[in-house]
Amino acid sequence: MFETLSDRLTSVFSSLRSKGRLSDADIDATTREIRIALLEADVALPVVKAFVAQVKERARGSEVSGALNPAQQVVKIVNEELIAILGGETRRLRFAKTPPTVIMLAGLQGAGKTTLAGKLARWLREQGHVPLLVAADLQRPNAVNQLQVMGERAGVVTYAPEPGNGVGDPIEVARQSIEVARQKQHDVVLIDTAGRLGIDQEMMKQAADIRDAVSPDEVLFVVDAMIGQDAVTTAQAFMEGVGFDGVVLTKLDGDARGGAALSVRHITGKPIMFASTGEKLEDFDAFHPDRMASRILD
Ligand code: GDP
Repeated sequence: MFETLSDRLTSVFSSLRSKGRLSDADIDATTREIRIALLEADVALPVVKAFVAQVKERARGSEVSGALNPAQQVVKIVNEELIAILGGETRRLRFAKTPPTVIMLAGLQGAGKTTLAGKLARWLREQGHVPLLVAADLQRPNAVNQLQVMGERAGVVTYAPEPGNGVGDPIEVARQSIEVARQKQHDVVLIDTAGRLGIDQEMMKQAADIRDAVSPDEVLFVVDAMIGQDAVTTAQAFMEGVGFDGVVLTKLDGDARGGAALSVRHITGKPIMFASTGEKLEDFDAFHPDRMASRILD
């Protein structure tokens, strides 16, 4: 994960190690290298600019302290700025005062949404919740079945339209699922919605209609980290078309660069809440900006 960026930053810092004190020219050269490292990592340009400006300002203003040499001081600043750009604190799920808490997943087809639904369901179950998985992705022929398999693996109940009932209405399925959750004492409803390969208005409208029908406590935008800063364009389209409260990054295990992770928070203003790091249900956790930053700088 993020190996390319990690290697690049490590070599930037190692060139500072022999310095006793950093001149403005040293700081300029270092921040130029950091800029290149971030651009190579496919971080969105406005984010790169803001990040580099902040590091430069802080490096220039920093006093030479007894405990840290100049290289360590720059590492410390970069670490703190990485944490900031990744969102600072971990943003936890907000649960409704009166159950069920309704969580809706939105994102492009192939982003890893259905897998994520299973992972999140398992994670919630382990925390003592009783989630209901809801198959409101009726676009893709196999999606309902795939979600049911996920549900079984996660040890949670899946609510889906009866087979043979035609295509079904995803908005109606979502609406009914809330009622089912109340009757059957599920405290969290996790709604998987349809995605398309590309952004289209019909998909956005369907997701917005489901949102209006169930008033979710949390709308999570699920995005494949491997698409780099294209994640930002997709996120912006979902912001406009559906709106969301938090981001879930998937396929971080295959992402050597880190562009999506480092761009999406700054551009959308929405926190990254969860990270998916593999195909197995256990490959999933809450997103911790500080842990991610230290991973990059390891
Ligand atoms: P959906 O169309 O958004 O519902 O996407 P799926 O959940 O069907 O996932 C698409 C593909 O990505 C599947 O082959 C998943 O096994 C795979 N996948 C999902 N999440 C991850 C992940 O975090 N890492 C890796 N390596 N593969 C993943």
